[in-house]
Amino acid sequence: MDGKIYTAQAVIDLVDPQTVIQELCKHMREHNAEISEESGDVLLRLSGCSARFSADGAMTRINIEAPDFEHLYFARMTVASHILEFAGETVPEICWNGDHGDAERPPNFQTLTVTDTRDVTPHMRRITFRCENAARFANLDALHLNLLIQQPGLAEPQWPFVGASGLIEWERPDLKPSMRKYTVRSIDLATSQLDIDFVLHADAGPGSSFAEAVTIGMEVGVLGPGGGGLMDADWYLFAGDETAIPAIARMLENLPADSSGAAYLEVSDAAEIQNLQTPVAIGIHWLIRNAEKPGSLLVEALRQTHRPQGDESIYLWAACEFSAFKTIRQLARQDWKLKNDQHLVVAYWREGTKS
Ligand SMILES: Cc1cc2nc3c(=O)[nH]c(=O)nc-3n(C[C@H](O)[C@H](O)[C@H](O)COP(=O)(O)OP(=O)(O)OC[C@H]3O[C@@H](n4cnc5c(N)ncnc54)[C@H](O)[C@@H]3O)c2cc1C
Repeated sequence: MDGKIYTAQAVIDLVDPQTVIQELCKHMREHNAEISEESGDVLLRLSGCSARFSADGAMTRINIEAPDFEHLYFARMTVASHILEFAGETVPEICWNGDHGDAERPPNFQTLTVTDTRDVTPHMRRITFRCENAARFANLDALHLNLLIQQPGLAEPQWPFVGASGLIEWERPDLKPSMRKYTVRSIDLATSQLDIDFVLHADAGPGSSFAEAVTIGMEVGVLGPGGGGLMDADWYLFAGDETAIPAIARMLENLPADSSGAAYLEVSDAAEIQNLQTPVAIGIHWLIRNAEKPGSLLVEALRQTHRPQGDESIYLWAACEFSAFKTIRQLARQDWKLKNDQHLVVAYWREGTKS
């Protein structure tokens, strides 16, 4: 950061500004934004950025301040997308002025080139990519990225650009790539390369098909990184199916050596078991699904696990199929009464539904 404050301004014609701004603030409060009122303006603060909403005659003026252009880009995008979401049927025109208003590509976009591929297990393919900027993915607070998988047979790839509204746009929206979320399994800063482990699953969508057909030299676009990290805890509990193994494995490899806890990993059959490195006091328990419903063994294992009952702090990290996710989240919040900073439970895929 260079000490400069980056700013953006927009004047928007909203039919019902009060309701839209109230809805936006209510939503952003759930993401830990601080909301206040100053001289009739509404001020929203989050992650070092601020957005001020003021009446300007019949129009609404928005001023955003951020510590760098990337924060400004995300703040503009967040404000614009939620205004469009809450504005109702009359879609307002949003056009930002200010710093880097004409940036062509999203600042978190880069292209990766495939340099290697190998099968870790029969249904897990590891693909190594060379990056323009691998250091962006080194932070353990943000493990995943969005892979932009081009539609088959395109002569020219479609890459995203930033529209005047601050949102991502495509030259040919009908040809825009499919986006799929994947985890950066490991990173090699010396060679500027990273690994992603792809589950090769039945009913393959663009993500799984990309991994099946991959060849050295292929280019793919990514937006990222994204996601939340682990909180410090005395005792960790991990639970995940094949799609979550890359994230859990990377976290286990990077936890302090004196960390303790348990990790439950559910895979389709014994051939999918991997040899993972872990701090000594975190035991890995492999659960073999066979014909069981995805995630059901994780739910059962978590129900039966013996959590420390004393003063030790606990952190639960779980990612799996949607219906098991719902049960685990309920277990964490309603039965175990874990607070927001004591758990992260996420659906990584949904049976029968494309991402
Ligand atoms: C934050 C995050 C990180 C993720 N990291 C990884 C990762 O590192 N590696 C990884 O492989 N996946 C990961 N996933 C899961 C991955 O994004 C989904 O599995 C995604 O649906 C795969 O896209 P697709 O195009 O292959 O299938 P889609 O087009 O999304 O779906 C097509 C069909 O396949 C089914 N399907 C999708 N995934 C699976 C699966 N795993 N097993 C069985 N059936 C499936 C769907 O239900 C649907 O019927 C992650 C997801 C999230 C949210």
